[in-house]
Amino acid sequence: MSAVTESGVIEAVNKELLIGGKWTPATDGRTFGVHDPATGAVLCEVADASPADGLAALDAAVAAQADWAAHPPRERGEILRRGYEALMARQEELALLMTLEMGKPLAEARGEIAYAAEFFRWFAEEAVRIDGGYAVAPNGSGRFLVAKQPVGPSLLITPWNFPMAMGTRKIGPAVAAGCTMVIKPAAQTPLSMLALAEILREAGLPDGVLNVVTTKSAGTVMEPLIRDGRSRKLSFTGSTEVGRRLLEQCAGTVLRTSMELGGNAPFLVFDDADLDAAIEGAMQAKMRNIGEACTAANRFYVQRGVADEFARRLTERMSALPIGRGTEDGVVVGPLIDEAAVEKVSSLVADAAQRGARVLTGGATVDGPGHFYQPTVLTGVPADARMTSEEIFGPVAPISVFDTEEEAVAAANDTEYGLVSYVYTSELKRALRVCERLETGMIGLNQGIVSNPAAPFGGVKQSGLGREGGTVGIEEFLETKYIAVSL
Ligand code: NAP
Repeated sequence: MSAVTESGVIEAVNKELLIGGKWTPATDGRTFGVHDPATGAVLCEVADASPADGLAALDAAVAAQADWAAHPPRERGEILRRGYEALMARQEELALLMTLEMGKPLAEARGEIAYAAEFFRWFAEEAVRIDGGYAVAPNGSGRFLVAKQPVGPSLLITPWNFPMAMGTRKIGPAVAAGCTMVIKPAAQTPLSMLALAEILREAGLPDGVLNVVTTKSAGTVMEPLIRDGRSRKLSFTGSTEVGRRLLEQCAGTVLRTSMELGGNAPFLVFDDADLDAAIEGAMQAKMRNIGEACTAANRFYVQRGVADEFARRLTERMSALPIGRGTEDGVVVGPLIDEAAVEKVSSLVADAAQRGARVLTGGATVDGPGHFYQPTVLTGVPADARMTSEEIFGPVAPISVFDTEEEAVAAANDTEYGLVSYVYTSELKRALRVCERLETGMIGLNQGIVSNPAAPFGGVKQSGLGREGGTVGIEEFLETKYIAVSL
């Protein structure tokens, strides 16, 4: 990529399927359109893979597996390191490409490119730290050897909300571990992944290690791959609803799975919290990615003593946010991904208002073109409002008041999800007590963002299985082999 212009960055992306190291058109030359959510305009057409194309991609991954597993870990790490450097060198072009297909403001897109690149840097370092073991058996006469080996050909499915980082968070550990892959990015945002695939080719990733399949028919293309006995792993990031369906499909071949699913994050603010920090954290936890994040604060529970002030200050901040196309200077709130997302947010707000919630700011769509919704704050949101149990995935902050710690923890845990929660308090004993009782895989303690490539990201309950990032991230792509040795 060279020119940092809208047409230049779109033009520079290869829009075919990457199979066995070759850019290949889909069966019958079929394509589908990628849209700019800020205008609704078609940006370009990309290849629309058929089930046969999907199987060809799996064939390529299977064929490349043995050689790739035998590749020196240092070389695998160095490919990732070059990938990291290329992503950072091209941050500006890649950020613009992401903003065009996904809608997030440019500043956030730049942030995502850096976050995405960091997974490559982290796993470049992890590739050479895959350990094993040697132990004396308890009876003294035998020995145990323990080796870690790549799981094998892996299927990776990613969502549209973080088009680059959700890819590198899987590709990084898979490359480091020595697995080959078929990746299917979301149909709404395939361009970032196509650009990334070319970057990895240029970084020296051998043919067939990473195969990219873009398609409008995710289910029909991916199900045969999931049910194909040659696949060894499915790593999925997306909604809990789709995740459940995929887990059923995986049962057929007892496929190993990593599932990064939906969230319904509670954000607890106690009377003793530093309110400046709580407001800052609330803005980050709510508005990062226009509220379209699995980690987005979905329910604010604020203790009575500070509830009015918290609501007033949050309303002040939310109502001042500039809305617009993510490419425009100063814009903080871009469009939602599509019209269905706007309709969902609208219906959740209408439902809460009908059940007695008060709209302090926002509460309406923005005239088109594009799929915009106003930053919104609601108070007095009752426990039976739909938005307390469903992901809002938009710029809406519902506030409810609580009196006791007991009540706050019970409300926070009253959900099938368990990805992340946020706690604001200045009292150490309370902080630890509450953190221990919250049923989530991650907690932001006096902090509104938890994502970090060096930390284990993931959820409990119906938010998922497994962890991505950190020292455990690579384990998701490794099998443990035990060799019993008789002396
Ligand atoms: P989604 O509808 O579940 O889609 C996710 C991916 O799965 C997309 O690539 C989609 O393809 C594909 N897909 C859909 N149906 C499929 C099927 N039957 N078989 C195989 N693949 C299928 O989720 P989304 O709307 O893109 O993303 C938002 C969701 O992701 C939210 O629930 C969010 O919380 C969650 N998320 C979780 C994390 C985490 O780390 N826990 C991170 C980010 C997002 P198409 O695009 O073609 O439909």
